Amino acid sequence: MIEFPQTCERCGVQGVLSTGERQWHGSYAQGEHMGFWEHFRCPTCGYSYDADGAPLYDALRLAIIAKEGEWVLEIAGTPSISLLKALREIRQLSLPELQALRARLPGVITRGTQTEIRYEAELLKNFGATDSLAIRHIGN
Ligand SMILES: [Zn+2]
Repeated sequence: MIEFPQTCERCGVQGVLSTGERQWHGSYAQGEHMGFWEHFRCPTCGYSYDADGAPLYDALRLAIIAKEGEWVLEIAGTPSISLLKALREIRQLSLPELQALRARLPGVITRGTQTEIRYEAELLKNFGATDSLAIRHIGN
């Protein structure tokens, strides 16, 4: 969980917004499979709300990476056709985009938070990728 200072929209006093990552099942469009939840409660007037949405936004991703470190999903060998198909489907890549990604492999497929990386590895497997994928913590 991450906390950000946030001004209460009812009374104007500074409170704390609690927020974190949330996984969404059913929407695999680029970035939309990871989202966020948030909870705010004003210590002064008691105003509160809960919300969630997608995609995971940059300020939250950066705060999580600052706390837990950055993680990568990596492939050691030549990517299989099943992996490329899965990546194209999950990220909705055009053929030129897929070719550009393929040209960078073997190597890192994705960088992000631990939850994002584990979720993408699981998705790729669910979409039929048979490659052995490494999940690595690369530090803060
Ligand atoms: Zn308030």
